[in-house]
Amino acid sequence: MSDCLFCRIITKQIPAAIVYESPTLLAFDDIHPQATTHVLIIPKEHISTLNDAKAQHKELLGDLVLAAQEIAKKRGHGDDGYRVVMNCNRDGGQTVFHIHLHLLAGRHFSWPPG
Ligand code: 5GP
Ligand code: ZN
Repeated sequence: MSDCLFCRIITKQIPAAIVYESPTLLAFDDIHPQATTHVLIIPKEHISTLNDAKAQHKELLGDLVLAAQEIAKKRGHGDDGYRVVMNCNRDGGQTVFHIHLHLLAGRHFSWPPG
């Protein structure tokens, strides 16, 4: 989708600090990091919100989570821990409408979230 910010990052029309790439996924540093590690992991297929995910995306959604685990462990956050978040629509706080898993690590996160 040419008008989607994250699709433009996938096609390298917009630069990003890429930390991981596979044939189906891309991960890059968030431009406004909320922790030492704040990586966004996205599918290369454009899916606007979690509401739009279908059964056919099961493996892709699992791969997002496993990529987060791999990046977190590689950066040494496995033992101390980390948080993964996917925001959906207005109440979830979604601002970019191409699904992305936030990987946050490097500090303690409180619960419940704001
Ligand atoms: P959301 O609020 O949709 O869950 O998260 C969108 C995230 O994308 C935000 O954390 C925001 O900082 C990040 N973001 C917005 N524009 C850009 C950009 O151009 N490049 C990168 N790397 N991150 C962005
Ligand atoms: Zn997109």
